[in-house]
Amino acid sequence: MAKKSAVRTVLTLDCECGKYSYHTEKNKRNTEARLELKKFCPTCRERKNFKEKR
Ligand SMILES: [Zn+2]
Repeated sequence: MAKKSAVRTVLTLDCECGKYSYHTEKNKRNTEARLELKKFCPTCRERKNFKEKR
């Protein structure tokens, strides 16, 4: 049986405006670099760059 690994980490993606954020997961083993995604921000009412919070 596979044990639930600690590799999956919950992370926060913050919009450039800093008023909206998404929560997601990432595999630290596969993605060491900082995540950056284009997502829709309801506060900005447009697609914005979301950056991983540290
Ligand atoms: Zn925003």
